[in-house]
Amino acid sequence: MNRHQPVAIAGAGIAGLTAALSFARKGIQTEIFERTTVLSETGAGLQLSPNATRILTKLGLLLQLEKVWSEPQAITLVSGVSLKTIASVPSGEFARSRWKSPYGVLHRADLQKTLLDAVNANPLCHLHLGMEIGDTAQHGIAGMIGSEPRLVVGADGVWSNLRKRVEGAGKASFSGNVAWRFTLGEAEAPAFFDTTKVTAFLGSGSHLVVYPLQRARSFNVVAITSGADPGKSWDSTLPPEISRQRLLEAFSGWHAQIIDLLRHAVEPTVWPLYHVNDGAWNQGDDVVLIGDAAHAMMPFAAQGAAMAIEDAFELASFVAGGKPLAAFADHRQSRVARVRSRGAFNRFAYHARGPVRLGRDLVLSLRRPESLAADFDWLYGYEPKD
Ligand SMILES: Cc1cc2nc3c(=O)[nH]c(=O)nc-3n(C[C@H](O)[C@H](O)[C@H](O)COP(=O)(O)OP(=O)(O)OC[C@H]3O[C@@H](n4cnc5c(N)ncnc54)[C@H](O)[C@@H]3O)c2cc1C
Repeated sequence: MNRHQPVAIAGAGIAGLTAALSFARKGIQTEIFERTTVLSETGAGLQLSPNATRILTKLGLLLQLEKVWSEPQAITLVSGVSLKTIASVPSGEFARSRWKSPYGVLHRADLQKTLLDAVNANPLCHLHLGMEIGDTAQHGIAGMIGSEPRLVVGADGVWSNLRKRVEGAGKASFSGNVAWRFTLGEAEAPAFFDTTKVTAFLGSGSHLVVYPLQRARSFNVVAITSGADPGKSWDSTLPPEISRQRLLEAFSGWHAQIIDLLRHAVEPTVWPLYHVNDGAWNQGDDVVLIGDAAHAMMPFAAQGAAMAIEDAFELASFVAGGKPLAAFADHRQSRVARVRSRGAFNRFAYHARGPVRLGRDLVLSLRRPESLAADFDWLYGYEPKD
């Protein structure tokens, strides 16, 4: 492998753009291929925990992000039936001091634009829009950029093409969960929505996450329910009245004000959630998968994008240090496995029914906020290899 050959990246999502900036920070040129002609992220918000913002800070993006995000004062769990607070983990200044980096919430389009502006301003990053990378070998890409890339990074999302180039890679499968997403203007929001917090409302088989999108003066609302394999019937092109009826069925028995909110939600979009479980991430030193292409996960721990950011940053460190891609994959797979189990635990706890739910509420209510925060030290306090 020649140190001067560029790295080719398939996909200009959060993983691909962060990888380009991380390679540039190590003096390595990248050629990024994005199949869409315009990069536009619509509709939804994103929580960026301190493990992700620590890396975005190292990439020089903090000042820009501070202009477009808000830092919630707490992450709070609330009963979806009684609207009583079950537990609360402090954030805001507390996050900055405990995990040495902020916790921010923002519109995805704002993160995308921040990354994209930085990529466009960096002479080592070359973005090619409207170019799809198939499952062909390196020479296909060489034809497009005039030289063989030293490696190809598959940052092409849950339906990755590049996975076909990796023997033993995982497969995308339906996770058993469906998400609805919509936004709600601050003026229309019910009084129990709090502009200073991320709130997760919990109930049997479903939960609802709400947080403010400061610049849009609105709230991001994500409702997640357990469900059977959706097949074609959960298609996002479902007629709106059927989609809403499904949403209301999933939340029956919840507090009347939440049901009323869902009944009046404007155009809730439905997303069957797919995940990619265990499998290989690299093909020798030629191809490596990162982000959702490698390990798409459920949003129960709000860590999918954070893991994509960690992957991207650490990949550049391993490659710049001359380490084999297998070493990168080993290192990242153990971290991602731990995060995935945290998500599985949250799924169990958030969607608990009957006596398990009562036990959960009792145990959580007896713990002090500081002690709840300590549970996240391994996750939010993570120092990436640099
Ligand atoms: C409801 C929900 C809520 C979430 N909330 C959070 C949260 O709060 N915090 C968090 O950290 N994560 C969250 N996530 C997860 C997060 O959104 C994803 O993990 C993250 O966006 C993955 O980024 P990516 O770059 O790997 O993939 P993608 O965003 O899918 O990007 C892939 C890119 O590759 C392009 N592409 C695809 N194929 C090709 C090809 N063959 N050639 C060239 N280009 C190609 C695509 O057009 C796209 O631009 C959430 C997910 C869901 C579903």
